[in-house]
Amino acid sequence: MQKTLSIIKPDAVKKGVIGKIIDRFESNGLRIAAAKKLKLSEEDAKNFYIVHKDRPFYGELVKFMTSGPVVVMVLEGENAVAKNRELMGATDPKKAENGTIRADFADSIDANAVHGSDSLENAAIEISFFFSNREIC
Ligand code: GDP
Repeated sequence: MQKTLSIIKPDAVKKGVIGKIIDRFESNGLRIAAAKKLKLSEEDAKNFYIVHKDRPFYGELVKFMTSGPVVVMVLEGENAVAKNRELMGATDPKKAENGTIRADFADSIDANAVHGSDSLENAAIEISFFFSNREIC
């Protein structure tokens, strides 16, 4: 069993597809172990994406992630990190496989509907960024 962090980004929250995205996880063996809706501050978004601080899109990414509320979740299941990445699809929705969350709900490479941890190690760091142990069931 693994745990991973998922974020439903502002574009998908605005579109009203929170339920549809959660259904993808639950229908594919990922359990919602924790969930909350919040609006990231600029400081939150900058810190969360600190690994990208030297990339040309960092400023745009921070602006987008603070443009509206997000839903953050801990997903739990067998192979949860890779499973979530598979369900999400490629970063650029134009390159995402048919039937993936990004192919179905994302508009562009920045407004791409969901975030998912890319390794078990980052999953642990990202989960503790948003959740205390008692919030994870
Ligand atoms: P992910 O793991 O698939 O989310 O992709 P990355 O970790 O490489 O990038 C983090 C986030 O930065 C992506 O989900 C996008 O929202 C954004 N991003 C990545 N590449 C680009 C880009 O070339 N332009 C813009 N505007 N945003 C990007």
